[in-house]
Amino acid sequence: MLLDVQKMTMGAQESQQGSFLADLTGQEFPIGFALKAPASAAYEAVFDGHEVLLRLTVVCETVIQCDLCLTEVQREMRFQPEYRLSARDWNCEDPELPFTKDGKLDLTRLCYDEILLGIPSRLLCKPDCEGLCPVCGKPVSAGCNCRQNVGDDRLSILKQLLS
Ligand SMILES: [Zn+2]
Ligand SMILES: [Zn+2]
Repeated sequence: MLLDVQKMTMGAQESQQGSFLADLTGQEFPIGFALKAPASAAYEAVFDGHEVLLRLTVVCETVIQCDLCLTEVQREMRFQPEYRLSARDWNCEDPELPFTKDGKLDLTRLCYDEILLGIPSRLLCKPDCEGLCPVCGKPVSAGCNCRQNVGDDRLSILKQLLS
């Protein structure tokens, strides 16, 4: 999906808006993070006479694997970045944004970049994940009874010591 920003800055078009599906399911993401389906994206670009103000909305269904308990959970992620664009954004050696040389912005690529930036450095199924049980190796949240038993063992040893 290419947005012709140069055309807008030349006054040919005051505003552009639309929506599209960004299929990034085949792209590389960090380990433990995957996209289930193409992301839904919407954009609105307005030229104010100097710059193009672009508002992008990206919504994607992701599957993340928890760093602590290794459980896979589904999560919806939503990003709403804004950009102010002008000719200097593509008339340069190494554009920061995915521009073509003739001022077209690759919105699909921009969605990918935003998702990558938005992935937390630590993936957790929930903020207070208790991780894996050191005894049986299953997620504690799955409800193993080991902790109970460990407690009982300690208690019985204590009882033995005391008796
Ligand atoms: Zn977890
Ligand atoms: Zn256990």
